[in-house]
Amino acid sequence: MSPRYAIFGNPVAHSRSPEIHAAFSAQTGIPLVYERRLAPESGFSAAVAAFRAEGGRGGNVTLPFKVEAYALASHRTPRATQAGAVNTLRFADGAIEGDNTDGAGLVADLKKNLGVALAGARILIVGAGGAARGVVGPLLAEHPGSVTIVNRTPARAEEIAAVFAAANVGAVALADLPGREFDLVINATAASLNGELPPVPRGAFASQSLAYEMMYGKGETPFLALARQEGARRADGLGMLVEQAAEAFLVWHGVRPDTAPVLEQLRLTVPAP
Ligand code: NAP
Repeated sequence: MSPRYAIFGNPVAHSRSPEIHAAFSAQTGIPLVYERRLAPESGFSAAVAAFRAEGGRGGNVTLPFKVEAYALASHRTPRATQAGAVNTLRFADGAIEGDNTDGAGLVADLKKNLGVALAGARILIVGAGGAARGVVGPLLAEHPGSVTIVNRTPARAEEIAAVFAAANVGAVALADLPGREFDLVINATAASLNGELPPVPRGAFASQSLAYEMMYGKGETPFLALARQEGARRADGLGMLVEQAAEAFLVWHGVRPDTAPVLEQLRLTVPAP
């Protein structure tokens, strides 16, 4: 029987991960079954335990369970520890290894798919939730000029900056942003879900900058509309989704699939912004 994997979330019906992993399986010839598991809000660890008992080999984790998955893991990779959140689980020899592939996925999308030069770049991360924290380490590894974090709740941005404690990482209040320009502005908030604009002032986009909306499939969000008005190039998070899945595939199977044809296929159903 093919090895089994699953995505755990609530809700999870919208997840594109099963089709992405099925495409990777077809491309690499590595057999697998990948399913969706809806876990009750207070039943994440039980859902994982049940899947392991059924012979599951690993899984991905999406909202709202990434921090719980971090706590559940018996071992964590350095990038998961840095992120404080886990999106990839590997079951092996009675242990649960927790990893976080979101940051590597974002960096791969930026560099490979979007041709962004990260070295020396001035980066603004808007938001300070799990996704924001997960991408700071991998972005810093690319030697940007600076990583600045702004969040609706400023204390959470300060917490992330303190975790990394690097000279080129800092948290700022929205009121202190006017007058500063960035080469890359990443919307890592959930504001677009409700059609709201996250804390980004006009004038934050340098010329030739990229506005990166981590969410996908929402059309032109208020963040992307602002970016258009400001003349910035725009991207959504579909590439990050496919690249983080490829990183998880690598963790489980030791092979990193070619993401380009899979992203191209998904694009047919999720128009680019
Ligand atoms: P999270 O941990 O719940 O954090 C949510 C963040 O959004 C917090 O910073 C929160 O600010 C902020 N926020 C929520 N509503 C807001 C509003 N109306 N105005 C301003 N700020 C608001 O969520 P997450 O896991 O970090 O995910 C964030 C986004 O990234 C989601 O849209 C998710 O879909 C996306 N994502 C995409 C990928 C991908 O592969 N493309 C991967 C991971 C995540 P406060 O601290 O003030 O509450």
